[in-house]
Amino acid sequence: MKTIVVSGGAGFIGSHLIEALLGQGHVVVCLDNFFTGSKRNILPFMNHPNFEFIRHDVVVPILLEADQIYHLACPASPVHYQNNPIKTLKTSVLGTLNMLGIAKRVKARILLASTSEVYGDPEVHPQTESYYGNVNPVGPRACYDEGKRAAETLVVGYRDYNRVNVAIARIFNTYGPRMLPNDGRVVSNFICQVLKGENLTVYGDGSQTRSFCYVSDLVDGLVRLMESNDSGPMNLGNPHEVTIIELAQRILQMIPHTGSVIIFKDLPQDDPMRRKPDIGLAKKVLGWEPKVSLDRGLGATIDYFRNELGRVDV
Ligand code: NAD
Ligand code: UDP
Repeated sequence: MKTIVVSGGAGFIGSHLIEALLGQGHVVVCLDNFFTGSKRNILPFMNHPNFEFIRHDVVVPILLEADQIYHLACPASPVHYQNNPIKTLKTSVLGTLNMLGIAKRVKARILLASTSEVYGDPEVHPQTESYYGNVNPVGPRACYDEGKRAAETLVVGYRDYNRVNVAIARIFNTYGPRMLPNDGRVVSNFICQVLKGENLTVYGDGSQTRSFCYVSDLVDGLVRLMESNDSGPMNLGNPHEVTIIELAQRILQMIPHTGSVIIFKDLPQDDPMRRKPDIGLAKKVLGWEPKVSLDRGLGATIDYFRNELGRVDV
């Protein structure tokens, strides 16, 4: 039984990770400031004897004991991370610095939830870990992309200079239950729009691609990486690539007869045109690859949002 800190644990991925770690018998300490997370996500664990919640902003230092730290605290949706770009950068840089400080002091292994966004609008396809990326340092996505790139640099600095035991996961687009209905990311947007009979907003002509990983697969990959000796960076994502228009049409087929139609809106500046992970490294080192098909994952996510939107208290 280990003591494991999960920063950002009240968020989408973090709450699934906590569920898995509690299920394995570990003690979990969740740190979150509820910027994009919610109390409802962690409510099922509140009475669990091995669960502890601390309302805390990771930008501020904190003293904790831990064997492992999963550092996920950071808004992930462009809508949320662009809301206050300076705060996003502070969360990535100062937040990661503070978590690394704990890891150094108590000799914990720390895993950084980095992102495929470090590759920016990639010229290499699919993206391998050796690709340095194509990021605009002054564009609207820079606070997130450059923040995570700086966080990665801090992590390898602590590994090489302070001998901290680290891992960097480069997470590709992940979806599933417990995303916020107003999250702004494409899967939750499309599903909620169609369930509400609203028009489905495709940005640009919808020819841009993404590769969507179901959250249970991602959590499995994160835990395997933490349990390995590898420091990464390691891509974790589902290599099944689809265009955004294909995703929209698929969701319309899966939720028929609500009256929704596809409408087109401007493509946001610096929106990456193609994205697909090369997961050769994760397969080789962790024996990991995603198992949940897009259809099955979308089905479970649609069921979740149908239930959420039907609640009277949301
Ligand atoms: P999310 O927004 O649902 O969760 C982020 C959590 O961090 C929220 O609970 C939020 O309240 C918390 N948080 C934000 N700023 C904080 C701060 N300063 N102090 C304490 N807590 C703070 O996002 P998610 O999709 O669960 O993403 C989790 C992590 O994975 C993030 O670091 C994100 O960058 C990374 N990631 C996610 C994806 C994806 O597709 N979901 C892809 C790549 C990387
Ligand atoms: N997108 C869209 N309609 C929406 C939300 C997003 O067409 O309502 C597009 C967006 O422009 C991008 C893709 O879907 O090309 C994925 O967007 P998301 O914000 O989910 O993630 P990211 O761009 O960070 O990969």
